[in-house]
Amino acid sequence: MDRRKVTLMIPCYNEEQSLPVLYSRIAALADGRPEYDWEFLLINDGSLDGTLDVIRDLRERDSRVCFIDLSRNFGKERAMLAGFDYATGDCLVTLDADLQDPPEVVDQMLERWKQGYEDVYARRITRGRESWLRRRLSLAYYSLLQRFTRADVLQNVGDFRLLDRRCINALKQLRESERYTKGLFTWIGYRKCEITFDRGDRVAGESSYNLFKLFNLAVDGITSFSTAPLRLATIMGLVVSVGTFVYMCYFLLKTLIVGEEVQGFPTLIVTMLFLGGVQLLSLGIIGEYLGRIFNETKNRPVYLIREKQGV
Ligand code: UDP
Ligand code: MG
Repeated sequence: MDRRKVTLMIPCYNEEQSLPVLYSRIAALADGRPEYDWEFLLINDGSLDGTLDVIRDLRERDSRVCFIDLSRNFGKERAMLAGFDYATGDCLVTLDADLQDPPEVVDQMLERWKQGYEDVYARRITRGRESWLRRRLSLAYYSLLQRFTRADVLQNVGDFRLLDRRCINALKQLRESERYTKGLFTWIGYRKCEITFDRGDRVAGESSYNLFKLFNLAVDGITSFSTAPLRLATIMGLVVSVGTFVYMCYFLLKTLIVGEEVQGFPTLIVTMLFLGGVQLLSLGIIGEYLGRIFNETKNRPVYLIREKQGV
């Protein structure tokens, strides 16, 4: 039988401290599975520190290491597309460089892959160290997203998963530039299987996702998988219009029957402010979608490469 090749894809942004530790762990993993060929595909996402030098060092020592150096920081979502494009493996596992996704879990994934599953995703039972606010917001967000979108995104499942060549080829075709890869995994379908793991803490450095970046990712997630917010604007408009119509009839009758002394400043100002708010909100929602259309129609490449070696 042909030997099969496994790609470990690792997007790196300012990870010079984590990489040596990560390398020793994945090398141990690969050495323990000599029945497969291995490729360690590191993607340098415009790091500002010495990450690229560390990667070059690793490549000199180990020919399984290959890398893609992006021309600037494009963000993890786009960096992952670069990985899908150039990976040569029969399957691919995305790992975080900070070792929050323990490489040892890949062993279990490979077992499932052998059984014929095409997308083996890892659900975290524990989430590692993070702030209370971030955990709460994240959980609330996923339940909202599940309610609104057809492609339901799974709670506590991240990018840590094994993808068969079929899935990789499918993902390569989805070339939108505002990407929400977690949703794309669900969208493509294929035979899925879940395993669980404990998410560790970062070995070194800081998370590069602050709450603001996470908020942006969250908006991308909703707007790229659902037009429900637009419908919400329609519904709000409808409710307000019907309410106003009833109110108008009431006033008309009342004025005809008992007359009207001019008063009602509070009613007026409250109605005006409320309507103004609803209008601005609806415009904002439309704007979100318009902005996405604007960005997608420019049709720019999703990422640019300065240099690549080994792939
Ligand atoms: N990452 C990236 N580009 C970015 C931000 C992050 O490639 O612009 C990588 C980062 O190096 C790490 C992974 O994405 O391998 C997850 O990032 P991080 O640990 O900062 O996020 P968190 O684990 O807090 O969600
Ligand atoms: Mg992390």
